[in-house]
Amino acid sequence: MKTIGLIGGMSWESSLLYYRLINQGVKQRLGGLHSAQLLMYSVDFAPIEKLQHSGDWDGAAKILIDAARRPEAGGADFFLIGTNTMHQVAGAAADAVGIPLLHIANATGEVLRHDQARRIGLLGTAFTMELGFFRDRIQQQYGIEVIVPELHDRQMVHDIIYQELCQGQVDAESREVYLAIVDRLRAQQIDGVILGCTEIGMLLESRHTDIRLYDTTEIHAQQAVDYALRE
Ligand code: GLU
Repeated sequence: MKTIGLIGGMSWESSLLYYRLINQGVKQRLGGLHSAQLLMYSVDFAPIEKLQHSGDWDGAAKILIDAARRPEAGGADFFLIGTNTMHQVAGAAADAVGIPLLHIANATGEVLRHDQARRIGLLGTAFTMELGFFRDRIQQQYGIEVIVPELHDRQMVHDIIYQELCQGQVDAESREVYLAIVDRLRAQQIDGVILGCTEIGMLLESRHTDIRLYDTTEIHAQQAVDYALRE
């Protein structure tokens, strides 16, 4: 089994999910007392959130480069960045180390391609919905059209992520807000919705809607397990 490197803490609420899903995945595949070989380096999220919102992506990249070197130094065979948003600077982190990165958008794109999706909704932070690093990858590498909510809806999705989900708050009213936004996306003939933020799965699950949800945390964790166990 390969050793997984995970950069966590963005937020730590979703790192908990990654840790559980990866270990469950290994146990499911190998059985008994098997669990993942995993090194997690978890950052302090507060300064990163400030850099994101002030548009200082070079500053954010510096922190991520430093973070990526740590699992590598500890012996990880490959690494994951446990957040969609920080994939805005994933290239800088990947270039700074000698181990491969499993990119969250590619993990998601593979599943979408397998499902023959053609047109897909995307929920995430404003950065993920508006900058190209996630959307363009799905569109250009997988030929799948990505639809995002309109401005006001994007703002609500974004605010709920930072003000609630990243702080461990899961609110039924916010779930209704998300479900209404999913319905508005749905009117645009989509094949499903990408939960393109690693905390959204805390709020929205398949049992809440009959549209197909693609939870990037689950997909990313599953791909890490597959890669770790591959010969
Ligand atoms: N975890 C979130 C994501 O997947 C947002 C937190 C962050 O800004 O990194 O985008």
